[in-house]
Amino acid sequence: MQFIDLQAQQNRIRGKIEENIKKVLDHGKYIMGPEIDALEKRLAGFVGTTYAIGVSSGTDALLMPLMAYEVGPGDAIFTTPFTFIATAEVIQLLGATPVFVDIQPDTFNIEPGKLEAAIQRTIKEGKLKPKGIIPVDIFGQAADYDEINDIARQYDLFVLQDAAQGFGALYKGRKSCSNAHVGATSFFPAKPLGCYGDGGMIFTDDRKLYDIMVSIRVHGQGKDKYQNVRIGVNGRLDTLQAAILLAKMEIFEEEIELRQTVARRYREVLKPYVTVPFVREYNVSAWAQYSVLHPRRDEVINALKKEGIPTAVYYPISLHMQEAFTHLGYKKGDFPISEKVSTEIFSIPMHPYLAAADQERIASVIGTVPRGA
Ligand SMILES: *Cc1c(COP(=O)(O)O)cnc(C)c1O
Repeated sequence: MQFIDLQAQQNRIRGKIEENIKKVLDHGKYIMGPEIDALEKRLAGFVGTTYAIGVSSGTDALLMPLMAYEVGPGDAIFTTPFTFIATAEVIQLLGATPVFVDIQPDTFNIEPGKLEAAIQRTIKEGKLKPKGIIPVDIFGQAADYDEINDIARQYDLFVLQDAAQGFGALYKGRKSCSNAHVGATSFFPAKPLGCYGDGGMIFTDDRKLYDIMVSIRVHGQGKDKYQNVRIGVNGRLDTLQAAILLAKMEIFEEEIELRQTVARRYREVLKPYVTVPFVREYNVSAWAQYSVLHPRRDEVINALKKEGIPTAVYYPISLHMQEAFTHLGYKKGDFPISEKVSTEIFSIPMHPYLAAADQERIASVIGTVPRGA
């Protein structure tokens, strides 16, 4: 059994993928070829934003908006400690300071009440200037954007939606990546919409921000690439990856539907044995991961492994406890919910083509480990 079966997907659209790759080989525009523009238009239309910018990875899709907002030393950026390292890494890379805020015990997303308290504390301490917020749509479910955007308005902060796991999700009827000032997603192969390498995209309605990010994407270019008006990066998406993504988009909406079916089946068979994911009634998750809680997680993982069923732990260490962030001075106990979840959570196989029989087998193995001591 596979954790994510990319082959099953490829089998459906192999012809279209080859056809699209062949077009790129024929026209030879490997850098910023016509597929980039086509994909940006297609995905901006899908997401419902005015602008989309294809970039080299999900990490760069987070970095470039921060650069455009001129985030730097002395700035505080508020985010969750329960996420992939990239979310906080880009803040640190620019010399700004990540300020962590604990998560909700049910959705595992940033807790808006605690977010506001952290902003007020930072203002009172007077050492850092609050500048922005990076909520993460963990496992594919959007964070609480109405509450977060309200807080951002009140304190004059920007909101950068880390939707690396959320592409295809819905928040109150609006597509993921369009729920804040600017949205970032990743096309890493295992993400809901994955390419065959690294890639990402940035979404916004803000014309000024868009123009700056387009410049940052190619070394801070001005009127042409040999005029540089700011410091940028080499942050382009490859034409070949755009061609592959265009082929995958033809079945993407259907795949999001299939993921709902798989998630519903999991809920039914797993409810007696683990804490199943909680999704708010107005949310549709993209189900990047199907993550459950069990107090004897490691035993469950071993039992599954013996049966040839792969698992993963997202995330075993809260970011405030990572060695790379030692200098921030956090200690164990600072974010108790994130820390507790890290000890009980694990993810099981999840993809649109997962068979009901496999899901039942996974549940029966998990059921062999009692929840009590
Ligand atoms: C995957 C991921 C990223 C980084 O995306 P890459 O394309 O691997 O650079 C950032 N944030 C979150 C929450 C992710 O899951």
